[in-house]
Amino acid sequence: MLVLMKQDATPQQVDAVCERIREIGFVPHRIPGAMRTAVGITGNQGAILPDHFQGLDGVAECVPVSKPYKLVSREVKPDNTVIDVRGQKIGDGRLQIVAGPCSVESRDQIFRTAEAVARSGARFLRGGAYKPRTSPYVFQGLKDEGLKLLEEVKSHFDLRIVTEAKDTESLPAVAQVADIVQIGARNMQNFTLLEAAGRQRKPVMIKRGMSATMQELFMAAEYLLALGNYQVMLCERGIRTFETMTRNTFDLSAVVMIKHHTHLPVVADPSHGVGIDWAVAPLAKAAVVVGADAIMLEVHPDPRRALSDGQQSLRLEDYEQLAKEMLALRAPPASGA
Ligand code: PEP
Ligand code: MN
Repeated sequence: MLVLMKQDATPQQVDAVCERIREIGFVPHRIPGAMRTAVGITGNQGAILPDHFQGLDGVAECVPVSKPYKLVSREVKPDNTVIDVRGQKIGDGRLQIVAGPCSVESRDQIFRTAEAVARSGARFLRGGAYKPRTSPYVFQGLKDEGLKLLEEVKSHFDLRIVTEAKDTESLPAVAQVADIVQIGARNMQNFTLLEAAGRQRKPVMIKRGMSATMQELFMAAEYLLALGNYQVMLCERGIRTFETMTRNTFDLSAVVMIKHHTHLPVVADPSHGVGIDWAVAPLAKAAVVVGADAIMLEVHPDPRRALSDGQQSLRLEDYEQLAKEMLALRAPPASGA
């Protein structure tokens, strides 16, 4: 159920609606819009009678929400969610670029990469410190030492940090350093981690599970919004199909579907999506064209020596060229934004 307030409803009238929702044992979610405020309701098992609200001042109408995902749905919030990450907006129509190595490997590696990323016009640096790896015998990330390096690099460059929380144990330390906490594909349905990420207040990027449907991805995000963390973005990173020529099948239609069905910003990750360095650039540009809010790319000063995902990592010079081409494809939003 969604309670739509009148355009001229006062903040006190919205408060009164929230209070009534709490009185009947549910959780209110204030959803400010360009035209009017709406209040979403969660915590109910079945339908809620509109009678609870219809007599209250400032209420225009009560509408049932037809989808199982409620707070992430465009039905509930028609305006795009724009996330402000230390002064850089994601979701307002401009293109943001997130680039960096798969894993933070050394001081030299992350500083050299950060320098190229900052120079390219990107405002976000990625780099895993806690790495979820398929094999227990390969590099698992520098863990806390990696976080320290990210903290150091963050103080030297105008770059915001995107790094993964692999589990609930590492989440608090990761969230201290990260400007955006990444939840990886393998953890998209780790509900304990989703709940923990919903309780903290750093923005979160959830990557689509490799066999997850759109609806499952939306429901994963719903966990965070239901707990009051509304700063969530969704990332398409390729899904597993019958095809073996590519690492995954990069699902560009997901970018379009996410934008249509939800109000959350969309990040596209063609690096994991295709898994082959020379195929990344055309797919990155395609993702810009179909409306991704941000493109995330793996880049490395020496991909052949990378400790993870070297096969899909771009050389710094190739990345800088691609960044130019991507930025040229998307005009900045109208002034004032
Ligand atoms: C990554 O971003 O390096 C990563 C491990 O991604 P995914 O969870 O999409 O496999
Ligand atoms: Mn990777």
